[in-house]
Amino acid sequence: MNIVVCVKHVPDAQSERGFNEDNTTDRDGVDGLLSELDEYAVEQALQIAEAGEGEVTVLTVGPADAADAVKKSLQMGADKGVHVCDDAIAGSDAPATSLILAEAIKKAGSPDLVITGMASTDGTMGVVPAMLAERLGLPQVTYASELTVEDGTATIRRDGDTASETVQASLPALVSVTDQINEPRYPSFKGIMAAKKKPVEEWALADLGVDAGQVGLANAWTAVEQTTKRPPREQGTIVTDEGDGGTKLAEFLTTHKFV
Ligand SMILES: Cc1cc2nc3c(=O)[nH]c(=O)nc-3n(C[C@H](O)[C@H](O)[C@H](O)COP(=O)(O)OP(=O)(O)OC[C@H]3O[C@@H](n4cnc5c(N)ncnc54)[C@H](O)[C@@H]3O)c2cc1C
Repeated sequence: MNIVVCVKHVPDAQSERGFNEDNTTDRDGVDGLLSELDEYAVEQALQIAEAGEGEVTVLTVGPADAADAVKKSLQMGADKGVHVCDDAIAGSDAPATSLILAEAIKKAGSPDLVITGMASTDGTMGVVPAMLAERLGLPQVTYASELTVEDGTATIRRDGDTASETVQASLPALVSVTDQINEPRYPSFKGIMAAKKKPVEEWALADLGVDAGQVGLANAWTAVEQTTKRPPREQGTIVTDEGDGGTKLAEFLTTHKFV
């Protein structure tokens, strides 16, 4: 069983994040890391591969430092990596990102299973998995909180607010997973050392047969029109308990429609 996991390198949410003048995300001067939600996708692929026979390939599309997302995934235990990197990709929107990912997945050898996170922690569009499945012509199941594979069929649990459903998809399929699905492992020392020897392919757009005119900011179907910095947090309200603390607290919660 060949599994491809799409992993994105994103600005660290703990850093001071912002936008460039053209409203694109400022990725320079901000520490980046493997999108935390994609760690669940890597972990799930590893568990499936470990339960049977399987090879896990991690794939990222992004600038040079996106290689760190591949490295971390290899340290967790993935077998090999692919990094699609090309200056023309900068500023690509979700449709273009899904196009590049789809062509890279085809070149990597049409896997039995593609696993993604439910959303990236920077763009949080949550649409790339569906676009990718459409481009690859695969059945897609999004927001999986449980995923098992047996006899060419993936069984997925999806949790809603009031009910859960279990669905099945025939392989090959694409599944996006939530943060409820597992507890991602930390890379062990052995894993960190082993990752240094694992193969990582670097592909440019030309290797995928994708034209530069199909991607990048100038060719995006969607554009960020305006960005505004979130106002600084205001100081909280202090309720002094003079015997009526409970009442004041209830008043505060109801006034602000918290209850
Ligand atoms: C090199 C590059 C530069 C970009 N620059 C900008 C920019 O400056 N400003 C801007 O607004 N947008 C930019 N984008 C586009 C944007 O960051 C997203 O890639 C795109 O809009 C998808 O939305 P999302 O990340 O919210 O994906 P979601 O749909 O939320 O992601 C869901 C899942 O799809 C997979 N996935 C998504 N993107 C990637 C990826 N690149 N590689 C591997 N897996 C992925 C992950 O598994 C992720 O968990 C850039 C994209 C690329 C590739």
